[in-house]
Amino acid sequence: MTQTPGIVVTGASGRMGQMLIKTISDSDKAHLVGAVEQAGHSWVGRDVGEAMGGAPLGVTVTDQPLEVIARAQAIIDFTAPEATLEFAALAAQARAVHVIGTTGMTPEQIARLGPAARHAVIVRAGNMSLGVNLLVQLTKRVAAALDEDFDIEVIEAHHRHKVDAPSGTALMLGEAAAEGRGVDLADVSDRGRDGITGARERGHIGFSAIRGGDIVGEHEVLFAADGERIVLRHAATDRAIFARGALKAALWGQGKGPGEYDMVDVLGL
Ligand code: NAD
Repeated sequence: MTQTPGIVVTGASGRMGQMLIKTISDSDKAHLVGAVEQAGHSWVGRDVGEAMGGAPLGVTVTDQPLEVIARAQAIIDFTAPEATLEFAALAAQARAVHVIGTTGMTPEQIARLGPAARHAVIVRAGNMSLGVNLLVQLTKRVAAALDEDFDIEVIEAHHRHKVDAPSGTALMLGEAAAEGRGVDLADVSDRGRDGITGARERGHIGFSAIRGGDIVGEHEVLFAADGERIVLRHAATDRAIFARGALKAALWGQGKGPGEYDMVDVLGL
């Protein structure tokens, strides 16, 4: 029997980390070889399955990522920007596929992934679900078909714990709209970071972020002109869609040449 790729999950105790561990342990296409948490975290040294409140999985949570990444074919990483940069260097050293779900990375931090991508496959996407990546493609097409009589607003809603705003997915949608329209996002948007800004320019691309309760993730792209509007909408109701997409990316990356890829490459959209 051929051995399936061994995968390390970083941020093991996180919302996505736990979902990834469950998805990988339920899969017959991959197996879990490591679970990483921050030094001092209460899960370090415990069996990850037991820490999650279930049956033991035979994998002990570690704060020493290099040891486990050295034995892995892929690392799936939904943590925080600076942590992700450290894991990128370790994944490059081990020639392991690095699937990055972490959002909120600055352009400068993203550029720092470049050296790692010369040695290993990096698949990075602000959203790993099939539906959202399709929505990105549709947004690009609709924006290309409409002129600047249509203002574009990206509206997103997430649970109250989400750190960054607008979401990585909202930014992907804004970039897609700008690309479709043939403009630079920075020229037509304030990226919504300062909240409601009052009147906006004709043809702008704007962002609005809603935070509350346990909302997994909702995104809407509104194309609004005088007299008519078009709405494209996606709702995630289960984090499993991101975990399944991330696992698919880890498997897709096996045997690919080093470089930076995204979910459009993985899904062949
Ligand atoms: P979370 O806060 O529940 O989990 C993050 C985990 O990372 C925590 O357990 C934390 O201890 C751990 N961590 C931080 N630094 C670490 C380090 N140096 N070493 C090891 N572990 C470390 O957050 P979450 O909701 O699971 O989201 C995590 C990230 O994934 C966020 O950036 C979020 O926006 C993003 N996300 C992306 C997608 C996608 O499809 N791309 C989907 C959902 C969430």
